[in-house]
Amino acid sequence: MTLQTKQLIDVEKIRQDFPILKIKVNGKPLVYLDNAATTQKPAQVINKIKEYYETSNANVHRGIHYLSEKATLQYEKAHEIVGNFINSDFEEMVFTKNATESLNLLAYSLTKNLVQGDEILLSQMEHHSNIVPWQQIAKEKKLVLKFIKITSEGLLDLQDLKNQLNKKTKMVSIMHVSNVLGTINPVKEIAKLVHDNNSLFILDAAQSIPHMKVDVKDIDCDFAVFSSHKMIGPTGIGVLYGKKNLLQTMSPFLYGGDMIKQVEFTDSKWNDLPWKFEAGTPNIAGAIAFAEAINYLENIGMDNIPNYEKELTKYAFEKLSQIDGLIIYGPKDLSKRAGLIAFNLGNIHAHDVATILNDEGIAIRGGHHCAMPLMGLLGVTSTARASFYFYNTKQEIDLLVSALQKAKQFFGEKDVK
Ligand code: PMP
Repeated sequence: MTLQTKQLIDVEKIRQDFPILKIKVNGKPLVYLDNAATTQKPAQVINKIKEYYETSNANVHRGIHYLSEKATLQYEKAHEIVGNFINSDFEEMVFTKNATESLNLLAYSLTKNLVQGDEILLSQMEHHSNIVPWQQIAKEKKLVLKFIKITSEGLLDLQDLKNQLNKKTKMVSIMHVSNVLGTINPVKEIAKLVHDNNSLFILDAAQSIPHMKVDVKDIDCDFAVFSSHKMIGPTGIGVLYGKKNLLQTMSPFLYGGDMIKQVEFTDSKWNDLPWKFEAGTPNIAGAIAFAEAINYLENIGMDNIPNYEKELTKYAFEKLSQIDGLIIYGPKDLSKRAGLIAFNLGNIHAHDVATILNDEGIAIRGGHHCAMPLMGLLGVTSTARASFYFYNTKQEIDLLVSALQKAKQFFGEKDVK
């Protein structure tokens, strides 16, 4: 660790906040490098859930008793904190279950008025949750789904984006950071191209917002989605950001209590934003703990986190590149890459690599990473993936590297060369 980073992030102190990082796996200290799948939670977040149920539990927006008011205040405060984190106005930030639900909401609601032949543009690097909802609705409504190509370096082909945009393109939905290639897409530039074409721009920020400052107004995306669990918050709570004028004209996705202003037997009127999109009892404890997670991240500093992760990624990239027979996917230019590295070790199946690493207490992901179409383009069915967060260390990367050397020995050089 360089002196400079040490002053910005005190990793050893931070690690004390994460109880799970103290456990042993197969007799070895846990090395958790599966942060792109989900992140670990600090005691502050875990305790917030307990505190809520012990001192404030009641339904929100419904009662006028003490606990209901207390729960409502905390829930609305959580709305404010999460909204401020991405520079959204209060009405523009809706709590959902996760990024996937937010994308389903958009696919359902934004395509209501589309007609046969209208086009939706995605990219070839998208996660299943930004493909399948669009694909299924496109089939039903006879819409055309198109995919922006990726270059041989694993970058989004902006020329192809320009070529594919046309009068029929109603919306473009793209990930900010690829959960396989690690690519950071130039989303501000993309937003401009998409808007110049009078199309809507949806940003899948599931892998970016946890790791870097994302300002939805600065990017000028029309919608953005992300999940709390990938940013030290609890599971079961996520976000849909949308520009107010757009959310106002959209139909709700789920119907029921809380999202209405008035109900008659034959028709109903919708509640104000953001509640119009939050049907039924929400994940109150989850929202409050999510806000606590954001306080924690802001205390560390959303500039310090990417700086530290860059240093870790550079270190890991250099060390992994030195392993003979190890293939790394995604950009070689580290300035275009976030803190995750997908790789294969020769012909050894990614599941076998992950199993051997697990014997050493190291958690990585092996599989298709919910990006089967991209796997096909890369010519593989699966990869291993190490993904970092601000509580990881260079020592953990050293352990990863020596465990991979062991895997190589175990399977024999013939499978690796
Ligand atoms: N988009 C991307 C880029 C992701 O990496 C993920 C999670 N792997 C998702 C969307 C979906 O997130 P969730 O499962 O929390 O809905």
